[in-house]
Amino acid sequence: MTDTRVAIVTGAARGIGAATAVRLAQEGFAVAVCDLDEAACADTVAAIGKEGGKALAVGVDVADAERVAAAVARIAAELGPPVVLVNNAGILRDNLLFKMSEDDWDAVMSVHLRGSFLMSRAAQEHMTKAGWGRIVNLSSTSALGNRGQANYSAAKAGLQGFTKTLAIELGKFGVTANAIAPGFIATEMTAATAARVGADFEEFKKAAAQQIPVRRVGVPEDVAGVVAFLVSDDASFVSGQVIYVAGGPKA
Ligand code: NAP
Repeated sequence: MTDTRVAIVTGAARGIGAATAVRLAQEGFAVAVCDLDEAACADTVAAIGKEGGKALAVGVDVADAERVAAAVARIAAELGPPVVLVNNAGILRDNLLFKMSEDDWDAVMSVHLRGSFLMSRAAQEHMTKAGWGRIVNLSSTSALGNRGQANYSAAKAGLQGFTKTLAIELGKFGVTANAIAPGFIATEMTAATAARVGADFEEFKKAAAQQIPVRRVGVPEDVAGVVAFLVSDDASFVSGQVIYVAGGPKA
């Protein structure tokens, strides 16, 4: 199977990244399952292996330029040249502006923006060489503004501009770049938000669902399905777009 396409998914130990890695393996990609802690990738790699797919666990801090370069080189050597990149790794450091520390600001910028920049810069080399590639960045409905998330909303809005610029620069090499902006997706990230405000997660989800036109919160597979479309050949004329996956125009 020398022509198996290789996909990288960051933050793929759990949540949206894990569901995306599993889905891309089902679509026939060999998947580099990347996360901060390589051991934490084991469950995702095992889930892919169980279904007969191919996956490699890769420990990498996406905000660290040297580690990113080493990880992408390792993926190219062990799985093959990566032609799909899903920049999904993310963190929250929520606080109202007057309480937000410089560390809260820098940490969020570092993982979402610097991380997506470093990963994309390293991976595009393989995509442009192949004359085919797909980059999908995880933005958020928070890009439209969200109380307590000055850092996160700025980073997620920044990712939309980053995505459009990649689409403009890389299009002539057969590489598309798009962003997905999820609304409320039930993962450890939203569970942590519930815990931070002292709410029971089930009640928190019920209350959130009431504000969403389709009257339910999202699951990681809702996002994974849209990633699968954006990285497919069917989506070759879709580039520089932001697709809200939020059960309505916005969550
Ligand atoms: P999650 O459950 O918290 O998973 C995020 C993963 O990213 C974790 O495994 C985390 O590892 C990893 N990660 C954090 N920093 C990293 C770094 N520097 N390098 C590599 N990996 C790192 O989050 P999720 O809910 O699945 O969200 C995935 C993406 O979707 C994020 O970009 C998030 O902002 C975005 N999003 C989520 C929602 C939602 O409602 N859940 C909505 C809109 C957008 P550790 O566990 O080791 O920290």
